[in-house]
Amino acid sequence: MKIKVIGGGPAGMYFAILMKKADAAHEIIIYERNGPDDTFGWGVVFSGRTLRNLREADEESHAEITRDFEAWDNVDVVHRDQKISIHGNSFSGIARIRLLKILQKRCEDLGIEIKFRTEVNELRSLTEDCDLLVGADGVNSTVRQTFSGEFNPDLSTRPNKYIWYGTNQLFHGLTLTFRDGDASVFAAHSYKFDTTTSTFIVECDPRTWTNAQFAQMSNEDTRGYLEKVFAADLGGHRLLSNNSKWINFLLVRNANWHFQNVVLLGDALHTAHFSIGSGTKLAMEDAIALAESFKRRPANVSDALDLFERKRRAIIDDYQAAAAESMLWFENAKDYMHLEPVELAYVLMTRSGRIDFETLRRRDPNFVAAYENAVRVES
Ligand SMILES: Cc1cc2nc3c(=O)[nH]c(=O)nc-3n(C[C@H](O)[C@H](O)[C@H](O)COP(=O)(O)OP(=O)(O)OC[C@H]3O[C@@H](n4cnc5c(N)ncnc54)[C@H](O)[C@@H]3O)c2cc1C
Repeated sequence: MKIKVIGGGPAGMYFAILMKKADAAHEIIIYERNGPDDTFGWGVVFSGRTLRNLREADEESHAEITRDFEAWDNVDVVHRDQKISIHGNSFSGIARIRLLKILQKRCEDLGIEIKFRTEVNELRSLTEDCDLLVGADGVNSTVRQTFSGEFNPDLSTRPNKYIWYGTNQLFHGLTLTFRDGDASVFAAHSYKFDTTTSTFIVECDPRTWTNAQFAQMSNEDTRGYLEKVFAADLGGHRLLSNNSKWINFLLVRNANWHFQNVVLLGDALHTAHFSIGSGTKLAMEDAIALAESFKRRPANVSDALDLFERKRRAIIDDYQAAAAESMLWFENAKDYMHLEPVELAYVLMTRSGRIDFETLRRRDPNFVAAYENAVRVES
């Protein structure tokens, strides 16, 4: 098959790898607008289950990915200067650039051509020149926009603002830190992803953002302001910018996932709020599902794409529903700031509906006992 992939992110490269592994005769080209060493973003996280899926799909890249991993099993919630740890949540982090380099190398070894610094804007002629065109070009996908009549996307720009930093302060575990004042609530989502660096995403609602007057602030002043807000958490370390800017989360859904020989994958197809740490995981598991569909329906592109959508849609819907609950929680974080730290931690852990009281009790009985105690004292 002649396959063209737009976008050399995790979804596009991983799909190319799995297809080429399945049949070395496939001719696969990836078009990527950035260079191979451009660093965008800090760390990405995977759950234990995702890692098992990656091992089954491609042992070689799994071995490389897990070699440099920082693993943890706790979620920490920091509120009113008190840290509550909840154990039994297995996650690992890796630098996004390290993950991309591993996948680039794997593509190179398998003979997949990646055309770097090649931005694709004209798609109609490309679709005619291949058996399959994959739109793995991220949240602002050109493929999705060009064929919006076919995909019928549903896009929702959310009200909260967020900004992606790194820091050399090491957060051992997924740490959710709240700093609130009279008219402001800032939340930080942080976790270490190598031995020296953590991701540090700051999120706030529009009221907080307007009150702080970020619209009039330079990037440098914004960073300084947030360093002051989180001074107690950063332990004297600076926030590290990678062209970091405030953005609004874009929730992406598509009524149709494919048409003729064109299919969307990863963030181009769907997004899930970063608070459940699953963008990269979903992108790579999409790639696994699509490659699997071609294994089952090798003779017919249309059948394979149908199968992909049929198998994967319910899983994505579930994930997006959980992520939406989590996103709404953070959009309304101010309504929870009156809670005691242990109560806030409990509400946070159960916010997406995926973890209930019994699951929490199994994972961390001490935490649940502390929560029950706090509720009993209050009532
Ligand atoms: C800049 C950026 C930084 C991020 N940082 C983090 C992070 O630190 N931690 C985290 O957990 N998640 C991060 N994410 C989100 C997470 O990485 C995504 O959910 C995940 O990468 C989705 O994978 P993907 O392959 O679908 O899309 P992406 O990783 O976005 O890859 C899409 C690729 O397509 C390329 N592209 C786009 N349009 C074109 C075009 N017209 N022609 C050619 N190439 C094109 C882009 O350059 C990009 O490399 C980040 C996303 C972005 C875009």
